[in-house]
Amino acid sequence: MTAAVPGSASLAIAQHHFDRAAEQLDLHPSARPMLRTIKRELIVHFPVEMDDGSFRVFTGFRVQHNIARGPAKGGLRYHPAMTLADARGLAMYMTWKAAVVDLPFGGAKGGVIVDPKQLTSAERERLTRRFTTEISLLIGPDRDIPAPDIGTGPQEMAWIMDTLSMHAGYSVPASVTGKPTVIGGSEGRQASVGRGLATVAVQALRDSGIEPTGATVAIQGFGRVGSAAATLLAAQGLRVVAVSDSRGGLHNGAGLDVDALAALKEEGGSFSDHVGVESLTNDELLALHVDLLVPAALEASITGDNAATVHARLICEGANAAIDPDGDAILHDRNVVIIPDILANAGGLVVSYFEWVQDLQQIFWTAGDVNGRLREVMARSYDAVRARALAEQVTMREAAHQIAVAKVAAASDVRGIYP
Ligand code: NAD
Repeated sequence: MTAAVPGSASLAIAQHHFDRAAEQLDLHPSARPMLRTIKRELIVHFPVEMDDGSFRVFTGFRVQHNIARGPAKGGLRYHPAMTLADARGLAMYMTWKAAVVDLPFGGAKGGVIVDPKQLTSAERERLTRRFTTEISLLIGPDRDIPAPDIGTGPQEMAWIMDTLSMHAGYSVPASVTGKPTVIGGSEGRQASVGRGLATVAVQALRDSGIEPTGATVAIQGFGRVGSAAATLLAAQGLRVVAVSDSRGGLHNGAGLDVDALAALKEEGGSFSDHVGVESLTNDELLALHVDLLVPAALEASITGDNAATVHARLICEGANAAIDPDGDAILHDRNVVIIPDILANAGGLVVSYFEWVQDLQQIFWTAGDVNGRLREVMARSYDAVRARALAEQVTMREAAHQIAVAKVAAASDVRGIYP
């Protein structure tokens, strides 16, 4: 049986949060249908030659939710359970995410129904190049700029950039972000989501009256987002007491050696291979009494079914829609502060924007410049969301959506409806 892909219920959740923000903002009824509807979607079915000479037909998508504030931006996911519904919901998330951190982008998402682990490198390259060609109707540096997501990374982005450049007849580095640095990728991209998350998490702890030094942290999911967040939080003196992957996790109340665990993962190891440290299940991790919980694995890891067992004081959503609306309501009633996905995990989008700007200008920044500017954007965005939450007496999630929806609505309004 194929595992459910993260994001599978996210259109309904994204629309739920939009509807709430629209109500709270008293958005004109005529403005609402356009903002909660996907603008453009392309479905492609395309053949790829396998290494044994046979051909397989794959299905892929590219979806743009809204482009009122700028070119569409969003990742490409390779996953066997990817659906058009996933792409729609995640595209809407990208629109709000870009708006809440004030980047001039709209929201998009796409992907291919495929298990990339079942393909050889040569097959993945042919699939990526053909898929790129199929969706080149929509993508390009001024129109829609893809990025990595689950199942894709810098190598896929390099193939996409090269394919689009071959069609254009010259190099178009700004056509995609998350590329290797040798072809115009940005310094600091790899750890950007974790760095942005760590920035807002530390500030949110302080604002909750919790001293970050020695504060306890549990992190569910130890991939690109979770491992970078763990490393950066530990470097700032927080105590990472639990981490997990899909097979379970590790716990040490005195604090885990995060660098050693990152090295273990880098070598392809699993936490179940790590001896000498107490193991725990993902359910146990979510129920720990910690100052900060970072769900950075899947959507809906905290729902109405398990929210009552969560004992963290603050939650920073690394994964999109890690907490579903029922879980949200239960945690809110119990005064758990939640830093929502569209703010907490926006660091990857921010550094993608920096990469696009660097490629367009052909001027490249140092890692120090990138990381410093990222922290600035995240801190400014966090402050704006918190100020609104306090002023309007709403949750951080509601405040973030209010800010985002208001910006997209204002852009749509001033542009008017053509013709
Ligand atoms: P990843 O594939 O690198 O890592 C995912 C981690 O979660 C792995 O450690 C995996 O073992 C673990 N995991 C999978 N299923 C699990 C389960 N059932 N219980 C516990 N752990 C499980 O992915 P990533 O790039 O780190 O992304 C994590 C989440 O953050 C995803 O939902 C993704 O959509 C979201 N996100 C990623 C980015 C990005 O740029 N990478 C940006 C924003 C949001």
